[in-house]
Amino acid sequence: MTEASDIPIRVRPEIAALPPYKQGRQAGDDAFKLSSNENPFEPLPGVLEAVQAATALNRYPDASAARLRERLAERFGVDIDSIHIGAGSVSILAQLVLATSGPGDEVIYAWRSFEAYPWLVVVAGATAVQVPLTADARHDFAAMTDAITDRTRAIIVCSPNNPTGPVVTQAEFDQFVAAVPADVLVILDEAYAEFVTDPDSVDGLREPGGTGRPNVVVLRTFSKAFGLAGLRVGYAVGHPRILDAARSASIPLSVTAQAEEAALASLAAEAELLERVRTIADRRDCLAEGLREVGWRVPAAQGNFVWLPAGDESREIAAAFEGAGLIVRPFAGDGIRISVGEEESVEKVLRIAASVVKDLPEGHSGRGLA
Ligand SMILES: *Cc1c(COP(=O)(O)O)cnc(C)c1O
Repeated sequence: MTEASDIPIRVRPEIAALPPYKQGRQAGDDAFKLSSNENPFEPLPGVLEAVQAATALNRYPDASAARLRERLAERFGVDIDSIHIGAGSVSILAQLVLATSGPGDEVIYAWRSFEAYPWLVVVAGATAVQVPLTADARHDFAAMTDAITDRTRAIIVCSPNNPTGPVVTQAEFDQFVAAVPADVLVILDEAYAEFVTDPDSVDGLREPGGTGRPNVVVLRTFSKAFGLAGLRVGYAVGHPRILDAARSASIPLSVTAQAEEAALASLAAEAELLERVRTIADRRDCLAEGLREVGWRVPAAQGNFVWLPAGDESREIAAAFEGAGLIVRPFAGDGIRISVGEEESVEKVLRIAASVVKDLPEGHSGRGLA
């Protein structure tokens, strides 16, 4: 933690108190990087060519990424003004929080969830209201409904939940949104939507035209399923006036022409890319099942990652994985998230997981019932 007194200028105290950003560890050549939920497949050849063709580096990009918006509007049966593109969906999250919530306002989200949420709320100067997950690592919508006050300005729902894995069901989501005041923004963060195989899952873009709820904005990204994490491109689908507000809170021209071209080329190759997504989802199911068989209590896994509730042992166990050339993501005191990576990584993960679970004390939260 940075001490405010270390900073040579005056900084907002809540910013000074933030821990410096730490990215998932970069892997050496012989290690598998399973710490950032990246796609192990490289982009398809057409995607690389599209990026290489976008050579006007001396020119600013199209400010609204209109071609990509048009393509996505067609794809999801919405008006072009109902689509907003950002440099990653995290940047759109930041815009939405900034546009809705300032000092004295509250932003509700489940916890543990995506690490960016608390940080975005602090930067906006708003107050985070964290609602603990249920024992099976799912959103607790009864408690989230109870947490709504006159101060609530935005609520973030993450499905599948990063880092724990379970989805929010469509029925849960619909019931929850019906209980949220109509002037409070609900952000449905579906960064891993393409990996979902549970038919009961919420899907903000299932119906043409979106959710039909003016206060719900759906976020998706090209970073995970489409394998473009390095290019930074994501999108929001929602009410045009809410998206205008997000745009007003954005840093202009952040989405590069290369990112837009890559996204367009990826959508053109969608069938082929989704084939790979299915491969990753199958690999995820094998991994989760294998972990349960060796004795871990793994919650439903619907993203491209699995969760080990390793509790106080998280750091030590992550170090054991690392010692075996597997870079995983520990959340101290809580658990370990392991991304579904290259095929050859699976057997290695299972081998280490089997050896470390034996050392967990009787009654530990990570121990399966078997
Ligand atoms: C990865 C991720 C995102 C988006 O990442 P971008 O690369 O900024 O598009 C958003 N939400 C969650 C929960 C994520 O895990």
